[in-house]
Amino acid sequence: MSSTPSTQEPRTSTDPFEFQSVEVLKGVGPGVAARLEKLGIYHVQDLLFHLPLRYEDRTRVVAIGSLQHGQHAVIEGVIDHSEVRYGGKRRGGRGGRSLLCHVADGTGSLLLRFFYFNATQQANLTRGVRVRCYGEARFNNHRIEMVHPEYRRLFEQQAAEVEDTMTPVYPKTEGVHQALLRSLIDQVLGRLDGESLEEHVPDELLNKYSFPQLQQALQLLHHPSPQTSLELLEQCRHPAQQRMIFEELLAHQLSFMRLRQRIQQEKAVPLMLEAAKFDAFRRQLAFELTPAQQTVIDEIHLDLAKDTPMMRLLQGDVGSGKTVVAASAVLAAVTSARQAAIMAPTEILAEQLYTNFCNWFSATDCVLLTGKDKGRLRRSKLEAIRAGAIHVIIGTHSLFQEDVDFSDLALIVVDEQHRFGVHQRLALKDKGRFKGCIPHQLIMTATPIPRSLAMTAYADLDYSVIDALPSGRKPVATVVVSEQRRQEVLDRVARACASGEQAYWVCTLVEESEALQCQAAEETAAMLQQALPELGIGLVHGRMKQEQKNAVVDHFKQGDINLLVATTVIEVGVDVPNASLMVIENAERLGLAQLHQLRGRVGRGQKQSACVLIYSPPLSERGKQRLAVLRETNSGFVIAQKDLQMRGPGEVLGTRQTGLMQLRIADIVRDESWLPEVNAAARYIMQHYPEAVKPLIHRWLGRAERYGSV
Ligand code: ADP
Ligand code: MG
Repeated sequence: MSSTPSTQEPRTSTDPFEFQSVEVLKGVGPGVAARLEKLGIYHVQDLLFHLPLRYEDRTRVVAIGSLQHGQHAVIEGVIDHSEVRYGGKRRGGRGGRSLLCHVADGTGSLLLRFFYFNATQQANLTRGVRVRCYGEARFNNHRIEMVHPEYRRLFEQQAAEVEDTMTPVYPKTEGVHQALLRSLIDQVLGRLDGESLEEHVPDELLNKYSFPQLQQALQLLHHPSPQTSLELLEQCRHPAQQRMIFEELLAHQLSFMRLRQRIQQEKAVPLMLEAAKFDAFRRQLAFELTPAQQTVIDEIHLDLAKDTPMMRLLQGDVGSGKTVVAASAVLAAVTSARQAAIMAPTEILAEQLYTNFCNWFSATDCVLLTGKDKGRLRRSKLEAIRAGAIHVIIGTHSLFQEDVDFSDLALIVVDEQHRFGVHQRLALKDKGRFKGCIPHQLIMTATPIPRSLAMTAYADLDYSVIDALPSGRKPVATVVVSEQRRQEVLDRVARACASGEQAYWVCTLVEESEALQCQAAEETAAMLQQALPELGIGLVHGRMKQEQKNAVVDHFKQGDINLLVATTVIEVGVDVPNASLMVIENAERLGLAQLHQLRGRVGRGQKQSACVLIYSPPLSERGKQRLAVLRETNSGFVIAQKDLQMRGPGEVLGTRQTGLMQLRIADIVRDESWLPEVNAAARYIMQHYPEAVKPLIHRWLGRAERYGSV
C-alpha cells in the first residue's frame, strides 16, 4: 500500500544489543527464530517485553498442614505409603490405573496422584523416599491431593535449595516451551547494563505516577522477589506493571498522533457551503433536523471549510439519522462543484442511500456503482465519474476498484465503518489524491464505540456523536423467550399483522455456510406460511439476486408483505417505518451489537415497537446476562460498553485478524482510567521529547505499526 517505515528496516549486528535479531542468542537458530516470530518476538528487545502471564511461587516450601484449596505450592515430605490402584475413574480414555503416594511432612499429609507413570517412576516413588513437589493442592474427600505434580527426589544431606525469585510463566507457542523462553529472557536480562536499555518515559512522568525505572521494572516483572505480592501481580496492579501498561498505551497513542500529524500536513480542497444553499436543502427535508444532528453538521461544515483534510468519526445509534448528516456534508462538495463518494457495506444499503440522495440532490447528479454493474453500463458510469459529469457517487467496496477514477474527489463518506476496517479507509484516501490534495473523510458508524475504545483505536480521528434520537421515538420493548414458546410468538405476529402492522423474522444459524443459512430461512418462511396462512410473507437472503432482494424489500416497504423473513442481510439498510415487530431466532448466537442493529430496524415510526429474542434452551448464565442487556436498555452506548466488557476490543471492533489494538499487557477495559492520563502524556512527549516518539512506538508496536507510513 505504501512505503515501509524506517522502523521496519532490517537490523544489523552494528545495532545496539537490544535491536539485534534474536539469533544472536544462544539456543536460537533460524527454526526457533521463526517460531518466536509467532509471539511477535523479532529482536532481543522484544523478549524483554514478552511479559509473564502469571507466576509460580517456588521460593519457599509450604507446610502441608497450611495448604489451601487451589494453592500452587512447593511441598516437601517423605513417602510413607505408595500403591497402584486399579479401576475407579478413568482419565483420558486410558485404563483406570493410578499411582498413589502418601506424603507427610510432620504438619499433615498429602496424596500424590499419577494417572500416567512408568515403571521407573513407580520404583522411584516408594516408601521412605523424600520428595519435593510443585503443584496445585486440591481438597478431595477431606484429603489434600496433588494430581501430577512436578517432583524431584531429594537425597540425604542434599541442600534443600529453593528458587530465589518467583518463577515466571510466559505466553508460549508451539515449539517454544517455558524453559526455552526463560533461558532466552535470562540471557538478555543478564546482558543488560546501565546504558543498554533506554528509558524513554521522562523522569517527570515517572515521578508523577511513582513508576519504577524501566530496567528495574523489567527485572522485577521477569523475576519478582519472594516478597512481591502475587495478588498485586495477578491483578496487574503492581507499579512495575502499571508502568508497562502506561508505556504501552502511550506508544499506541503516539502512533495515532503521528498518523494524525501526517494527515494534517496534507492539503485538502476547502469546501465552503453558503448558508442559503444549506437552508434550501434543509427546507426540502421531510423533517426538522434535531439539535444533535445540527451540532454535528456544524462541526463537519467547519472542518470541510479548512484546507487540511477532515478525518472525522461520526457515531450515532441505529436510527439516529446519520444519513442526512452525510448528505449535508455531500452538499458542501456538490455546491463547490466537487465530487463526493459515499461507501456502504452492502448493496441493499448502497441502493437505499442512492434513493435517499436522489431525493435530496438532482437525480442526474447521482450515480450508484456496485459490483454488479458490468460491461457497457459500468463503462459509461465510470466515464461519467472520470469526466466529473457526476458529483455524488454511491457504491459498495467496488469504489475501491482500480478502474474507478475520480475527476476531483473532495469528500469520502464511509457508512458503517466497522465493516470495512482500517485498511480500506486508508486505501480510499490514496485513491482520491489529486493535484497534491487528499479528500476529506467522514466515517460513520452505527455501532456506538465506548469512549475508551474510541480514544484508543480511533485516536487519529476527530469525533462527533449524535447523542439523541429524533423525537417521538419510543424505545423498543424487548422480551427474551425460549424456543419452546414459539407458538406464543406466532400468535403475537398474527395479531400485529392483523392490526395492520408489519414484522420481521430473522433467522440465524451458527454455521458459517451461507447456503445453510439461506436454506434455514427458506424452511422458516415455509413453516411460517403454513402456520400463518392469512399473511403475506416475503423472504430475503444472501443467495438471492440483488434484483430479487430489492423487489421483496420494495413490496415490504409498500405494505404488500406483512412479514419479512430474512437472514441477517437486513441488519443494515432496510428502513421501513411501519414495521414494528422484530423476531430474532437463536438470538443467543449473535453479538450484542448485531442484535442491537437488527432491533434498530423497528421503532422507526411513531408506533410502540417490540422485539422478541428467541433462544434455544439451555441458555448459559452468561448467555442470559447478555440477552438481559438488550432487554434492559435501548442505548447503543450502554450495549457497546457491556459488549466490550464481555468480549474484548478485538471482537467488538472486528479486528482480531487485522491486529489493530493488539495490546500485550494493557487491557483497555481494565485500564480505562489510565486513558486520559496517557492522552495528556502523549501530547506532552510530542511537544517536549519528540525524539522519544519513534523508539517508543517501535518498542511496543514494532512490526505492527501499520499506520506509520500512511
Ligand atoms: P441511521 O443513523 O441509522 O443511518 P437514518 O439516517 O437511516 O439512521 O435515519 C433513520 C430514520 O429516521 C429515517 O427514516 C430518517 O428519515 C429519519 N430521520 C432522520 N432524521 C430525522 C429527524 N430529524 N426527525 C425525524 N426523522 C428523522
Ligand atoms: Mg444508516
